[in-house]
Amino acid sequence: MAFSDSFRHSYQMDIEGIKAAGLFKQERYIHSPQSSEIEVEFPSGSAVRRCINICSNNYLGLSSHPEVIAAAHAGLDSRGYGMSSVRFICGTQDMHRELENRLTQFLGTEDTLLFPSCMDANAGFFEACLNERDVMIADRLVHASMVDGMRLCKAMQDTYKHSDMGHLEEKLQEHQDKRFRMVITDGVFSMDGDTAKLADIVALAEKYNAMVFLDDSHATGFIGKTGRGTHEHCGVLGQIDVITTTLGKALGGASGGCVSGRRELVEMCRQRARPYLFSNAVAPVIVAGALKVLDLISASTDRRDKLEWNATYWRGLLKQAGFDIKEGDTPIVPVMLYDAKLAQDMARDLFDEGVYAVGFFFPVVPKGQARIRTQLSAAHEKHHLDTALEAFKKVGKKHGILGLGRKELMARCAA
Ligand SMILES: *Cc1c(COP(=O)(O)O)cnc(C)c1O
Repeated sequence: MAFSDSFRHSYQMDIEGIKAAGLFKQERYIHSPQSSEIEVEFPSGSAVRRCINICSNNYLGLSSHPEVIAAAHAGLDSRGYGMSSVRFICGTQDMHRELENRLTQFLGTEDTLLFPSCMDANAGFFEACLNERDVMIADRLVHASMVDGMRLCKAMQDTYKHSDMGHLEEKLQEHQDKRFRMVITDGVFSMDGDTAKLADIVALAEKYNAMVFLDDSHATGFIGKTGRGTHEHCGVLGQIDVITTTLGKALGGASGGCVSGRRELVEMCRQRARPYLFSNAVAPVIVAGALKVLDLISASTDRRDKLEWNATYWRGLLKQAGFDIKEGDTPIVPVMLYDAKLAQDMARDLFDEGVYAVGFFFPVVPKGQARIRTQLSAAHEKHHLDTALEAFKKVGKKHGILGLGRKELMARCAA
């Protein structure tokens, strides 16, 4: 027997350890399409109940939009279910290229290459474009997918303190002896909802002859006046060398990602990026849906405008009620609790009150930084937010945290 009792016992002990630490993650089964209200079974086997969803990346409410669904149906009918191939063998349809061109236009870049996911785009990019003569200088809070991508690349790795431009400048000076320098950042940081100082980063990159890499997964489609992303918001459209982003959040939420940027960098990915070469093409049904998403968001900014209104309104409500939230101006609004177990308990109580939100704790955020990350959507109506607030207030009161500041909350967490 290969999986001997001692193997099993060892893993069981690990799992028990995760449970004992209050860090065990459990899936909730959703019985409906993704939306502002969903039908949820939790815990497994219990009755399905309807609740307000305030933790999805469905920023523009397009995950179940009738026109997107219709376009996806049409794509399914005209181009079939799957490609059964990677892109370079027999997995590229004209639609893939059309979507790449449309993304290039939308993002204001030179060229784009689709990947099975943004995780894959980040896993493949660095190794394809940098080598041991180069250095990657990353913000300390970049998403895990960039951390993994950098691990796969032979270039030297360095970091700068989160959004600390002085520290970044020191690092750029320190690495002038390298062939290439690449500064690596998220546009909107997924756990804190703050925005990279992209104009400053671009200026430093110019001064010290470096390239800029931006993962804009939590911004593409809704940050910036016309939703192009953090580079639009910061006034540096056309000045970012590489943008990676996902189709799995605001842009319909199915799956897929891309590398978009300087022509030669994109071509290097087409030649060398391993997730592009060795993983299946994005399915035609998703490509067709994503094309429709780009039509919708290019024709009108109504959705991103509504999202912005919702985010501002929700931030105001939470603050007024006495929650400790992270400042920012994005639709990611973290309610800080610091203690992992408290975050878990509050999420469970919120669910009982008909609000679906999830506690985040180590390793998704640093130890002692646990939180409930709320996220707004253009699919939320004002009444959703008002109802959700009542639940937050009730649960906050139960746990005695309303009106407590950061220090007081952290003291409680240590006790
Ligand atoms: C969600 C996310 C990803 C992963 O995107 P997928 O397309 O789901 O793989 C990558 N980077 C960042 C910053 C993200 O937030």
